[in-house]
Amino acid sequence: MATVGTKEKAKETVWDVALRQLEETARRINLEAGILEILKVPRRTLVVSVPIRRDEGQIEVFTGYRVQHNFTRGPAKGGIRYHPDVTLDLVKALAMWMTWKCALVNIPYGGAKGAVTCNPKELSQKELERLTRRYTAGILPIIGPEKDIPAPDMGTNAQVMAWIMDTYSIDQGYTVPAVVTGKPVAVGGSLGRDKATARGCLFTVMDAAKKLDFTLEDKTMVVQGYGNVGRNMAELSTARGCRIIAASDSRGGVYSKKGIDPFALSKHKQETGSVVDFPETDNITNEELLELKCDILVPAALGHQINERNAPRLKAKMIAEGANGPTTPEADEILDHSGIFVIPDILANAGGVTVSYFEWCRGFRPISGVSGR
Ligand code: NAD
Repeated sequence: MATVGTKEKAKETVWDVALRQLEETARRINLEAGILEILKVPRRTLVVSVPIRRDEGQIEVFTGYRVQHNFTRGPAKGGIRYHPDVTLDLVKALAMWMTWKCALVNIPYGGAKGAVTCNPKELSQKELERLTRRYTAGILPIIGPEKDIPAPDMGTNAQVMAWIMDTYSIDQGYTVPAVVTGKPVAVGGSLGRDKATARGCLFTVMDAAKKLDFTLEDKTMVVQGYGNVGRNMAELSTARGCRIIAASDSRGGVYSKKGIDPFALSKHKQETGSVVDFPETDNITNEELLELKCDILVPAALGHQINERNAPRLKAKMIAEGANGPTTPEADEILDHSGIFVIPDILANAGGVTVSYFEWCRGFRPISGVSGR
């Protein structure tokens, strides 16, 4: 089970932490007690077993989840994560944060999240397809264009969304593009959806820079997690003048004071499977990376990476939370006292769900040659 904090809080899960955030926010905004009670519990929680035949012939059973936290503002919306450390408590927290995010950027959705506890790197493409279709079959009764619309998250991508859309459409007997977002452009996806989360994150950084009266020219940036969000953030920020001095993935990080070409780093990761050992850089750990002196730190990997242990040692001037829930409430307080400007996840990474909303609206019309434009 995902746990956080010191020994005394050893049993606290990510969901417990999210509840603390909710209660603290409710107190600050004087939220009506009844509404708080509703928001403290997900509206629907589904756990499914996902049996698939592995390529070698044996059956393996995975566990999948779909949590719908709230529908008050519209159908539930949220990504699907494939990761070995996923727990129900984590999915509940991620679903609740989606409710807050959609409300904050004022799109007519509630919040949801889905996941399968698996390591997608250890599955072949055929196994991933079987897993996705079987998982979709399991959650099929509760998803749909007007009920709950999945999208990509860690470990999933446009191809996974296409399999979900196809499995759902087979069951309905006709093509239903609006059941997922973040799908390939050829089947009704939006141009730019793959970069939308990072682009939104960059826009929030640019706005924050304006407020703090500095330009992005030659500002140093450190990116934790070199996947959809982190890689695109590094590439887009370089075009605005930032200098990427460090980046990491699950295997470790790389650092170069004079700067790293993010496009060459992406190519290196594609060819070798990791950013580690990128030429003319020093290999560093993820812990070292977070504590580097820099102007902008972008956590774009897992939750609770910034916690009460490392927060006092952070030397960034600004943190743009590309990841969901990268900072614990204790760390938030420490960062606040140290004067580090934090752009919270529900704002910094809301670009993806915003473009997903446009894609969903378009999904109610038949797919045409100008799909997504
Ligand atoms: P992804 O799977 O494309 O990439 C994740 C990256 O993080 C990979 O490079 C992986 O190697 C790395 N990583 C995994 N564990 C790590 C660790 N312990 N330390 C450092 N790096 C690690 O996932 P993504 O879609 O880019 O999502 C990243 C984060 O952004 C997640 O928290 C996700 O919930 C959030 N997010 C994603 C989207 C989206 O549109 N994809 C939208 C909003 C929020």
